[in-house]
Amino acid sequence: MATLLPGGWATVRGFKEPYGPRVVSGELQCEAGMICQRCLQAVTVTLKGSIRWGLVFSEREMQSLDQRLDPVLVEEGQLFLRQALEDEMVLLLPIMPMHDSCDNGWTPDPEPGDVSEKTSPFAVLAALKNEQRS
Ligand SMILES: [Zn+2]
Repeated sequence: MATLLPGGWATVRGFKEPYGPRVVSGELQCEAGMICQRCLQAVTVTLKGSIRWGLVFSEREMQSLDQRLDPVLVEEGQLFLRQALEDEMVLLLPIMPMHDSCDNGWTPDPEPGDVSEKTSPFAVLAALKNEQRS
């Protein structure tokens, strides 16, 4: 589960190698909102990657593409750049997103469910009111 946050950027340039495939190369960076797998709180991860796409126009071309290039299929003569970039960013998402250190003042309760012994904030407020009254 991840949400790509606005503000990402990408720089791409395209060229054609002599007797080679059309290549799109560039850099991309984007932030994504995910859930920290250690403390289960929201964490923002920075995704950074470089692109080296080889544009292919058929499944057959994809098979024969230079292994160093990531094949991107051009459908109906169009490269859906935004879609392709989003796909690339999704690939960069960490499998186990985590804070560098989960020092957000919240640690997982080792025994969840036992809330009866905890003082409810409302009880604290009630106690304060009683103190003021006396
Ligand atoms: Zn965390």
